[in-house]
Amino acid sequence: MTRRESLSTLSGLFACVATARAQSVLSTRGDYLDWSSEEQRYWFLSARDGLARFRRVAYAHPDLCELREIARSKTGLPVYALRLGEGARRIAILSGMHGCEPSGPRGVLAYLDALLNHTTPFGVSIDAAQTLRAATLCLIPLLNPGGAQRFSLHFPDCWHGTWIQPWTDANETRFFAEGNEPERFFYGTYAKKPPMRFTPQQIAQWEATGHALGSSLTDEGLDMWFDWDDTHGTETKATKALLEAFRPHTVLDIHNFMFPTEVFAPTVYAQATFAEEERSLATAIQKAWQARSLLFNPRPPRPYPKPAEKYYEDYWFHHQLGARALIAEVNGGMLATGGAEYEALPGQRPLTRRESLKSAFLAASALMNHLVT
Ligand SMILES: [Zn+2]
Repeated sequence: MTRRESLSTLSGLFACVATARAQSVLSTRGDYLDWSSEEQRYWFLSARDGLARFRRVAYAHPDLCELREIARSKTGLPVYALRLGEGARRIAILSGMHGCEPSGPRGVLAYLDALLNHTTPFGVSIDAAQTLRAATLCLIPLLNPGGAQRFSLHFPDCWHGTWIQPWTDANETRFFAEGNEPERFFYGTYAKKPPMRFTPQQIAQWEATGHALGSSLTDEGLDMWFDWDDTHGTETKATKALLEAFRPHTVLDIHNFMFPTEVFAPTVYAQATFAEEERSLATAIQKAWQARSLLFNPRPPRPYPKPAEKYYEDYWFHHQLGARALIAEVNGGMLATGGAEYEALPGQRPLTRRESLKSAFLAASALMNHLVT
């Protein structure tokens, strides 16, 4: 059977999700029994839940942290930006561009908690006083809250690894359908192609079939990854405006799609000492993963591939902001084993939910630690 023949239909996808949800009560409770303290504290179960947790942490420390809404998604969910510290080194950490990539926002929440509440996620302690003295930190932890909210409706604990194992071709298809439709509906493939945005007419036509927009898209039906040049998205515009005003030294964006985990650097647009700085930041993150026995691609950091059309965020971070650009991709399971950036490595396996959370947390904390000490 060819790969194409094995693809299940979309109605199959949602029937499967519905079945999984109907069967979910006991298994989800079972999962909760096994949840580590970090998962319980940081692994939020919907965008709304996550936004509330960010508010709770930030509002408990009004003297140290400013939280504000910089945009609102089309379905009315806020995009929050948090600002902490008063140091000369300005650092921005982004996550949650794609709703089907849940680990980044939760890892950033863990880092925020460590910084403000002096908790020690995964046994890691942060020198909060030194960090806030040396750095000014801008966090945009959930760039695309609408996508994250849709994802949570299909995967109630927001971890597809709980719901769609084993990692078969059919499940890969379900995963891509959930994230990327109506790409296949209109263009016959789940592979994303620029500009990866849908017109209001297309969205209406898709929604008339009874299905929701893919969770990698924003509520306006676009993929922010392809939106950094001729920017159309409300969330992308607000993020760009904030970063232009903030002028960070370094931007880290945490995704959760690749297999295996990898941090990409230097950006293909950087040269000489700039590239060296990016490489050393990426190496600091790799060392943190290594020290905590997490699986990742251990080769010397390599650039994220340059796109044939348009450009990605790293170009904009470099050329518009003059910032060092790092893209961290936390292992999202074996479903995502394609694309120019994919590199098969023996001995790798999908991360557990806790390991993925830990990987995202360590990416943020290792970067910050490297930049402020
Ligand atoms: Zn992503």
